[in-house]
Amino acid sequence: MWHDTGTGAWVSPAGLTVQPLGHIESPEGKRRIRNLIEVSGLMDHLVQLRPRPATEAEILRLHTVEYVQRIRRMSAKSGGEAGEETPFGPGSYEIALLAAGGCLTAVDAVLDGEVDNAYALVRPPGHHAEKDRGRGFCIFSNTALAAVHARHARGLSRVAIVDWDVHHGNGTEHAFYSDPTVLTISIHQNNNYPPRSGAITDIGSHAGEGFNINVPLPPGSGVGAYVAAFQRVVAPALEAYRPELILIASGLDASAMDPLGSMMLTSDGYRRLTQIVLAVARDVCGGRLVACHEGGYSPAYVPYCGLAVIEELAGKRTGLEDPLLSLLAGFGGQEIQPHQEAVVDEAAKLVARLLTAATPPRIRGDPE
Ligand SMILES: [Zn+2]
Repeated sequence: MWHDTGTGAWVSPAGLTVQPLGHIESPEGKRRIRNLIEVSGLMDHLVQLRPRPATEAEILRLHTVEYVQRIRRMSAKSGGEAGEETPFGPGSYEIALLAAGGCLTAVDAVLDGEVDNAYALVRPPGHHAEKDRGRGFCIFSNTALAAVHARHARGLSRVAIVDWDVHHGNGTEHAFYSDPTVLTISIHQNNNYPPRSGAITDIGSHAGEGFNINVPLPPGSGVGAYVAAFQRVVAPALEAYRPELILIASGLDASAMDPLGSMMLTSDGYRRLTQIVLAVARDVCGGRLVACHEGGYSPAYVPYCGLAVIEELAGKRTGLEDPLLSLLAGFGGQEIQPHQEAVVDEAAKLVARLLTAATPPRIRGDPE
């Protein structure tokens, strides 16, 4: 919560052109998820895990020495800009290590059977970070680092990442683009952020060909389109790949209330997506599922989406109602539309391709 993104105007520095606001990537949404879990009573049914910081060696599994040293140096002074649209203040290096380490802690707790599944409510987010620069508020590649940890430190053969953040998970895609041992699936708003990223035709390369799936849904997509994408693309892809662990890059910015997305999800929509992924996880990997928090910029609404996801993970309904559900139902447009279905149809063909791709790799004990 102490990661300081400073002031800005929307996602850009305010400069002298307009009055500064607090930066849109702020602690508030995350803090309010935590507080709603507390107030709803759900916390009584959860096991709280204390995160450890990731080590520099763990970060270097995906990031360059030059980049990591630069962030550490700047963070020790007054902070600065990690790359593109990723401002940070003093101390953010250590906080970013804690965010990545929180995801690793969650993976270990699930693989060790300490908990059934886990939600790592971390900040800053990670899925836009590239190996040599920060992007889109992300410093280190938290979810991707969790996958690498599961593979290399814990010896898993196959890990899958499902990214339901409204933006494309470009950093995650790049980390595993030629790697068939991590299946990456991103469902995002077409051409939101980053620009020209996340095309349906980007399917991976070399040995990784077929193991990257992008579902770039049109703006305005709601629960119907998302559920169709999860039932017809995500679930069958996971069934075909049979990962030993499923990670969710859990952006809550595909909601109808989000200022950085133009999608229509509700808390109930997020609940249904969680149910679909959980059912597959139970089928293919003993329910081993870790969600790593990514984006979500409506401090008013992300708490209800987060509560719905975590209620499903915990298998416990608190009865606390989302007071905005009826308002959002009144917007209409939640049924899948033909132009949205066309994208799902196209993406479903990639699953058929995945089925005919090389047998999922079964490699153990790869060198680091
Ligand atoms: Zn996002």
